[in-house]
Amino acid sequence: MAMFENLSKRLEGIFNNLGGQGTLTEEDVNAALREVRLALIEADVNLKVARQFVDRVKEKAIGANVTGNLSSSQQVLAIVNDELVEVLGGEDGNNKLDLGGTPPQIIMLVGLQGSGKTTSAAKLANYLRKQGQRPLLVAADMYRPAAVNQLKALGRQLTIPVYSEPAGADPVDICANSLAYAREQACSVVILDTAGRLNIDERMMNEVINIRHRLQPREVLLVADAMTGQEAVRVADDFNRAVSLTGMILTKMDGDARGGAALSIRTVTGVPVKFMGIGEKTDALEPFYPDRLASRILG
Ligand code: GDP
Repeated sequence: MAMFENLSKRLEGIFNNLGGQGTLTEEDVNAALREVRLALIEADVNLKVARQFVDRVKEKAIGANVTGNLSSSQQVLAIVNDELVEVLGGEDGNNKLDLGGTPPQIIMLVGLQGSGKTTSAAKLANYLRKQGQRPLLVAADMYRPAAVNQLKALGRQLTIPVYSEPAGADPVDICANSLAYAREQACSVVILDTAGRLNIDERMMNEVINIRHRLQPREVLLVADAMTGQEAVRVADDFNRAVSLTGMILTKMDGDARGGAALSIRTVTGVPVKFMGIGEKTDALEPFYPDRLASRILG
């Protein structure tokens, strides 16, 4: 499929009417950017973020010379694409986990119930093991009754160790105790599955704040459901204010979601997307590639 087929057709329509060749005039650019803004909003990008993005593109597009054999619409598409990739994290994506230093390094996952946090913990452990790490999964979601058993089952399936404590144990202590266990077992990375709620509440936030404070994790990743679109932006903003996120895992990208939430979240919070969940299986996790998401958003 051609890149941005949908937007590309719409822009061609506009430029054919304008008949613009040579230099892009302000009128050409305005007409084209209306289409770009609509495409972004259709992809679930927040209105304000779409407007900001279009303003950035406009500055670059006006007065740009249409050179070589690029048509006006191709020229605008190229500028939009470059800008989108840049906002989403640049060519190399800025999406690597920071796991240097003395092991075990700690990765803390936070997020709302149902976002895919427990599944993502197992996927991440599986992914990191393939990279030569020795992961330990830690069941610190004592709020959702099934979460501990779910994580244990995933661990068994992957033959990756899971640290857990009986019901009633304090999540902060569980995380702290898991570190000693990780050292004993010579694990190189510890993945904490913390409690989620259906909505953000103070108790949950205090719990994740306490874990972050006590454990000083190297990475604090928000697991967010791409299907929740606009809502994900507010959730990301709240978690970021409370625990300073270092990245995000955007789940359920195998569904219909166009992924506009990633652009909104990145613009509003500055937090980079590091992984995408693309299915329910434990290998359905991939590193985040800004250029691929750009194509998907502009479809
Ligand atoms: P938690 O409450 O955040 O721990 O959520 P779970 O890990 O239990 O996931 C909730 C549901 O979403 C489960 O049915 C998962 O199989 C499903 N899920 C998680 N990640 C993905 C994904 O990337 N794609 C799809 N299609 N389903 C996912």
